[in-house]
Amino acid sequence: MPEVSALRDAFTARFGITPRLIVRAPGRVNLIGEHTDYNEGFVLPIAIDRATFVAARARPDHTVRVYSANFAAEDSFDLARIERSAEQPWSNYVRGVVKGLLARDLPILGADLLIESDVPLGGGLSSSASLEVSVGYALQLLNNVDLLGEELALLAQGAENSFVGMQCGIMDQFMAALGRAGHALLLDCRDLSYTPIPIPPDVRVVVCDSGVRHTLVGSAYNERRAACHEAVTLLKARLPRIAALRDVTTEQLAVNGDLLPPAVLPRARHVVSEIGRTLRAAEALERGDLRLFGALMYESHASLRDDYEVSVPEIDTLVELARGLPGCYGSRITGGGFGGSTVSLVSTGAVEAFADALGAQYQDRTGNQAKILICTPSEGVSRAATF
Ligand code: ADP
Ligand code: MG
Repeated sequence: MPEVSALRDAFTARFGITPRLIVRAPGRVNLIGEHTDYNEGFVLPIAIDRATFVAARARPDHTVRVYSANFAAEDSFDLARIERSAEQPWSNYVRGVVKGLLARDLPILGADLLIESDVPLGGGLSSSASLEVSVGYALQLLNNVDLLGEELALLAQGAENSFVGMQCGIMDQFMAALGRAGHALLLDCRDLSYTPIPIPPDVRVVVCDSGVRHTLVGSAYNERRAACHEAVTLLKARLPRIAALRDVTTEQLAVNGDLLPPAVLPRARHVVSEIGRTLRAAEALERGDLRLFGALMYESHASLRDDYEVSVPEIDTLVELARGLPGCYGSRITGGGFGGSTVSLVSTGAVEAFADALGAQYQDRTGNQAKILICTPSEGVSRAATF
């Protein structure tokens, strides 16, 4: 984790003046509820104990200077002319957030910002949302602007959708802003209402990055979204009141599945079943029934593999290896798919041995090196220091 004192010193060395404050915003991992967000369904993520840190100081002018320690790169821009940067694409996450604040007529002055993150970049743990939310929060504090956590999350999502051009849902920014230590959040992606659910201290969340990335992720994601949209349109012939797959029950889909082409029906079946599983998993977690929770994770994986077809053999291998290891309650693919990571729920006493064995067995089977993180459910955005 970046040290507050080291961040302060790095800021002072770069900008010639001490920072006013340091904030942090976490990455996230989703325990269950995959590809449900854009169907107005439920997700159950935790914020993780990896975060983007921003050291910041207001400037008296209208310039934002921003340095990313991760990229060892600096950029600057004028508040009056915020355009997309082709040379420094990473800066667009910052520019988009500043532009979003200004678009709300919030009184934002220039700033010096130094960013350092220990969320793996591009690894599916949402370094992008943690960057957006941490920058937004730092500017909020520097300029004495009050924004609710929900507002900050929506502003950050808007920046990523319209300024960076990535059509992500709200989950990532919501967790970076509103994650709760020791809890997962059952988030209703339809209206953003949420319920914190305690994670028992005797289990840990393990994220295992397969090291596999497929280039088709973007187009396959759009194809899945289109299939869901088509399913809703066709089902409306008999279910005129539905607005999203969220509104369709398992029974309704079974009875009306004949309306859907053979390629679309399994996509809808995943989404409808996954929304039900997510609600049941949240209830199980609430009761401390980790066995049932874990069984639902395995079911979720099978549905994503067979019906939604977003898994790959390496990820299936990781899930099967996890299933065979002591202390593992459940395991599944997490994130958009086509490679990326698995998430597993493992009893605390067994977690170190689990991580070692999973990495070793995966390497034996596939020749790939996994990157394993043992995560603790953490707090959303917060102030880390004031100077
Ligand atoms: P993920 O959100 O899963 O980590 P994304 O592709 O959505 O993956 O976001 C990663 C991108 O976000 C990086 O390529 C970079 O442009 C930007 N980013 C994230 N963290 C930082 C950082 N600390 N410094 C600069 N850019 C960052
Ligand atoms: Mg991202």
